[in-house]
Amino acid sequence: MQVIHSIVRPFHQLLGLQKIQADETYRLLAFVVELPVDEGLLLYNTMSKAMVLLSEDEVALMNSDLRSLPQLIELWFAVPLSHDDGLLSRQMRQVAKLIRKPGKGINKYTIFTTTDCNARCFYCYELGRPRIPMSEATARKVADYIIGHCNGQAVGIEWFGGEPLYNKPVITLICRLLRESGVKYHSSMVSNAYLMDAETVEEASADWMLKRVQITLDGTERVYNRSKAYIYKDVNAYHRVLHHTELLLDKGISVNIRLNIDMHNADDLLLLADELGQRFGGRKRLTVYSHPLFGVNMEKAAVNDAEKRKHVYAKQRQLMERLRQLGLTAPVSLQRYVKSGQCMADNDRCVTILPTGHIGKCEHYSDNHFVGHIDAEGLDAEGIREFKELHDDIDACAQCVSYPDCIRLRLCENIAKCYPEDRADKLEGIRQGMAANYQKYKQQNHEIQD
Ligand code: SF4
Ligand code: SF4
Repeated sequence: MQVIHSIVRPFHQLLGLQKIQADETYRLLAFVVELPVDEGLLLYNTMSKAMVLLSEDEVALMNSDLRSLPQLIELWFAVPLSHDDGLLSRQMRQVAKLIRKPGKGINKYTIFTTTDCNARCFYCYELGRPRIPMSEATARKVADYIIGHCNGQAVGIEWFGGEPLYNKPVITLICRLLRESGVKYHSSMVSNAYLMDAETVEEASADWMLKRVQITLDGTERVYNRSKAYIYKDVNAYHRVLHHTELLLDKGISVNIRLNIDMHNADDLLLLADELGQRFGGRKRLTVYSHPLFGVNMEKAAVNDAEKRKHVYAKQRQLMERLRQLGLTAPVSLQRYVKSGQCMADNDRCVTILPTGHIGKCEHYSDNHFVGHIDAEGLDAEGIREFKELHDDIDACAQCVSYPDCIRLRLCENIAKCYPEDRADKLEGIRQGMAANYQKYKQQNHEIQD
């Protein structure tokens, strides 16, 4: 048996090697993923992050009596029949939380420069919410708030909206005030990129310290221009946005293109993937990913109708495969740490700031669930606690290999449901990570032997 990855620290010290009990019958831990490879069988433990390779002979032994492979028991790949896998995983997460000292101050800010937008996407979750731009006076107070709460440390800012560039002056102002106060910062942005012209890209690189932009494309030219419904009528928005993507890449700013897939645009997105491949294939800082669109404003029927849902997920897999073939996806690899938090919502060092000066915890809550205001000191402890509450486990969790990394926040609309297709996608992602890490391991070993 070859150990490709051992148990991650510090859990190695905490768990130690599992003692083998003479009279126990063993089974594989519920969090073990198998992947056949040419040289045998890879086993990856999603809880301890260990990965081993078994030869064919060892696979036969494993299938007849796990105790004949004591190392599998010692490394927690196998446990006694009555073992409570879920409990051990939850304990590991608690320990991870205790070990990772949260640090002082707030150093990650998602700033809504405006809740207004220059596009009118039919699926936008902001539809029906008030459209408010941040005022100059509020922007000044936002900068003061950051300066007063970052504890002298560098901050990361995500510009969000609405469309953040639809109120560009407040970005410029906040960045200038931070610079003048000596606060170090870098930023990212979720934008439709319509307004990201050459002059803006220059400023974004030099003054906003912009490192990454996420841009959503809904389809090829005809579909995109129809579904975005920009307020400007005289320009081909699709060509404009792709040109702006090129400007960003030329300036060394990473672009992550998101393709929202639904019942109707799946085939068109395959064509778009080819177009993106032709235009951007080989560009280092460009990645593309797709996401099924099942939000509140999406056809509810598609969510509740299992057949339609399966159809969308099947198309999504096909699309991801095409993007992979075109070299447009981000490289996959296995996670090598025990997850202790989900996102900004359950991280005490992150907040959102709305155009009104309200402080929140999640970018999807732009008009309620606030936990404070930039005009007042202190945050609402009860509101913050509420964002950390978890959904109860569902039946499928007991046998789900993703359980150790699945932190389902009760208030998160993105993960309100867990469908079999989600679980299958996660499993596929883990298997791809296993294959990628194994390839790297083989290459390194090969280089050492050479
Ligand atoms: S992915 Fe679904 S089944 Fe798996 S642990 Fe999370 S909620 Fe449970
Ligand atoms: S939508 Fe969900 S994942 Fe995103 S910030 Fe909110 S809670 Fe976190």
